Amino acid sequence: MSLASSDQPALSAAPIFSFGPEGADGDGSKKSLLGGKGANLAEMTRIGVPVPPGFTITTEVCTWHGADREAALAYLRPEITTALKRLEKEIGQRFGHPTAPLLVSVRSGAPVSMPGMMDTVLNVGLSAQSRRGLVERAGGGPTAMRFALDCELRLVEMFGTVVREISGSAFAIPRDRALAAEEVGHVGDLSLSALETLLEESRSVFAVASGSPFPDEPLVQLEEAIEAVFRSWHGARAKTYRRLRSISDTLGTAVNVQAMVFGNIGARSATGVCFTRDQATGEPKLYGEYLANAQGEEVVAGTRPPPRIGRSVKAPTGTSFEELFPQCFSELLEVRETLENHYGDVQDIEFTVEEGRLHILQTRRGQRTGLAALRIATDLVAEGRIDPQRALDQVDAGALGQLLAPVLTPEGRAAASHRRLTIGLPAGPGGASGRIALDAETAVAMAKDGGGPVILVRAETSPEDIAGMAAAAGILTARGGATSHAAVVARGLGKPCVVGCAELRVSHRGHRIEAGNVTLSEGDTISIDGSTGEVFSGAIETMDSEILRVIDGALPPEHSPTHARFSQLLDWADERRTIGVRANADTPEDALRARALGAEGIGLCRTEHMFFGEKRILSFRRMILAHSVEGRCISLEELLPWQREDFRQIFSAMDGLPVTIRLLDPPLHEFLPHGESEIARFAEESGLPIAQVIARIDETRESNPMLGTRGCRLGLLHPEIVEMQARAIFEAARACRDAGGNPRPEVMIPLVGIAEEATRTRMLVDRVASEVFEGAKPVPYLVGTMIEVPRAALTAGRIAAGLDFFSFGTNDLTQMTYGFSRDDTGGLLKQYIDDGILEDDPFITLDQEGVGALIALATEKGRKANPNLKVGICGEHGGDPRSIAFCRGVGLDYVSSSPLRVAGARLAAAQSIVGK
Ligand code: ADP
Ligand code: MG
Ligand code: MG
Repeated sequence: MSLASSDQPALSAAPIFSFGPEGADGDGSKKSLLGGKGANLAEMTRIGVPVPPGFTITTEVCTWHGADREAALAYLRPEITTALKRLEKEIGQRFGHPTAPLLVSVRSGAPVSMPGMMDTVLNVGLSAQSRRGLVERAGGGPTAMRFALDCELRLVEMFGTVVREISGSAFAIPRDRALAAEEVGHVGDLSLSALETLLEESRSVFAVASGSPFPDEPLVQLEEAIEAVFRSWHGARAKTYRRLRSISDTLGTAVNVQAMVFGNIGARSATGVCFTRDQATGEPKLYGEYLANAQGEEVVAGTRPPPRIGRSVKAPTGTSFEELFPQCFSELLEVRETLENHYGDVQDIEFTVEEGRLHILQTRRGQRTGLAALRIATDLVAEGRIDPQRALDQVDAGALGQLLAPVLTPEGRAAASHRRLTIGLPAGPGGASGRIALDAETAVAMAKDGGGPVILVRAETSPEDIAGMAAAAGILTARGGATSHAAVVARGLGKPCVVGCAELRVSHRGHRIEAGNVTLSEGDTISIDGSTGEVFSGAIETMDSEILRVIDGALPPEHSPTHARFSQLLDWADERRTIGVRANADTPEDALRARALGAEGIGLCRTEHMFFGEKRILSFRRMILAHSVEGRCISLEELLPWQREDFRQIFSAMDGLPVTIRLLDPPLHEFLPHGESEIARFAEESGLPIAQVIARIDETRESNPMLGTRGCRLGLLHPEIVEMQARAIFEAARACRDAGGNPRPEVMIPLVGIAEEATRTRMLVDRVASEVFEGAKPVPYLVGTMIEVPRAALTAGRIAAGLDFFSFGTNDLTQMTYGFSRDDTGGLLKQYIDDGILEDDPFITLDQEGVGALIALATEKGRKANPNLKVGICGEHGGDPRSIAFCRGVGLDYVSSSPLRVAGARLAAAQSIVGK
């Protein structure tokens, strides 16, 4: 062993872990070392699932190889030799042997599943010398010869494209010529001599394109392939995927070297993928796709339409997996039981049948839509496979939102029935309309051009299309099955998706698509239904999802099993979570919806949105533009009854629950009349001379309104505004209470930065309350402030002394802490994230290091000064799972999110408590 090198980094474990009949060195818990694939291969070996033997090179070696290639290789070579010896002994074949050649696959496998991101090379170890041995192994004769040539051809191409980075189209030239010459569609159908010629030509392509002949030396193949896997970790597509999923670049990938099993020996062999339950709906039935006489990823590539496994669709007789491979099918069902019981979760399995024998090549946690996640989690509990605590952790809190995503309206769909273009496989939830974009780049550009949503339409997608898929509102592909790249990625992204539309022809060059006799161009509008697989030309209206219809009372709950599961899961979440969940709601409708989704109060009711009605805005503008207190009071008098009625309705919608009402916080410019005609109309309606209106608007104009006369500053300059609002709140509360209700008003003072601002505003509010409740029993109320200016956080002790609660307004607090204008820095932030200057957008997920430090500090100081202080958060972050976990950690009493994120917030709040 070459352990001499002194700069060898300390590996925390052995560099190689074997798995096979002699046992497995690793197990499922070692994902960070062995990658997800390697850890699961070891685990499956341990629990007796039929896995071809092999060994895994650890992620630590990948990292080392990235830092010091030569040293890592020198160390690794003898280790590989040892592992190969064990494998050869176990399997009774020898690497590079002319009569009993061992062939292996070289597979990447990162610690987190990255579907389609890393490259794999199959049939490594095959060469002109060992070809004969492979023919014999396959039984000799022309069929066996064809098989061996097929394997070698695949190796030359895969090795060429993956390891030597030769363009795939270089190999397509001789292949297409050969197929055309014999008028066949598939390499497997070529005559033996044509196949031989093709192999020779492909070897020439290889030699010309890479500058050296194809390496017939098995150990050279192996080493180069291993290094290519290491390198692919640093490739552009892998990086894009990691960035989209916030996966760290430093994890590295493991490499799995595994004895080959052959699905391409003939008709008694096959390769396939299956899911232990339906990924789109969660239906508890095994289903998948397979191809007879095929190898590797052909089944998901969509080059031949794959027949399905385990679905009651009418497959032509004699083509279903159940019929052709009955023994393997029942074994597959057994494996399903074993794996689901062992892992307690749905599995996504890759398998190969070699001459009637089933081999499992991979298992991983199955991706799923939000709808499927819900059904799977609740079903697994009902079947007794997991307990509710595990179920809670299996549902992605963000994905719950998919259940609330719009679907196409039945009327819209019916009206569009004559516009139906085609029907494919439903592969991702919800419905969407949008303009056709035919490649990823165009989709990204169109999504930004302001012309509305985009549907990405491709013959098939590949990992290069990720950015376009993320930008699109929906995805449509002509080829591919329910397990194709497009389907898997769309489900991960939660996008409506339809795949496998056999009738759809996509001309990327001609910038158009055709189905039947309809031709549409890039930019035309289509609609897709990810739940039925239908595709329509033109736009179709969307409507609320099933759960929202139940919530809004449009559908009786007993008609919705989905709603029952939804409530069940969230009940479990409520039992576990310790932090409250409220909603941000400005209208009674939003409040009712939020309450039905489980909100325990309103954390933020913004009052400025209440002034946008036709008549209200007139009074409101007059109020802002009034010259005198008297003038302002007249407008305020007009506004009072409207405000009071709004609050009354919200209190009654939230009866018995706290409602935090924020006093007026308008950046004034948002409300002023803009442009000549609006100004003229305003002048006419309010009977003022135009010149006077313009002069007053000019006086009011601020060059930096977000840092101007906002929030409590406005109320301290014009106390009559605060008085009107406080009066409206307390009169509404009194009316509700007198009508037998239980209103719980909480008055929130915005944008406090100086303790005295809070003290004085509170005095105003308290005075109005005592006036309103004079001679009656007062309605209990709280007065607090929104912490959104860094100075407020830093001086929180003094501010808290005179108040009942804090609520972190993290949108402004983030803006002011970074000095990033929310309205101007979108492009800058994106660039920062692309360049790695920032890891996440701080307006989406809380900046724990900076803004979070202010939150922690303010909470601690505030509670010290006032032990009864209630503390919550009401910025956008209140609905973000990672931010919620942080808020729980620093001991906030509640988070408040937009109504549609309330359910996700309840779940995230439960998940933030680990391992109950
Ligand atoms: P990915 O990470 O893209 O899924 P894999 O390493 O799983 O890549 O391999 C790609 C394809 O090759 C899969 O279809 C897999 O089942 C197949 N494959 C990998 N190793 C073997 C093997 N030893 N024998 C037969 N097929 C294999
Ligand atoms: Mg792949
Ligand atoms: Mg795989």
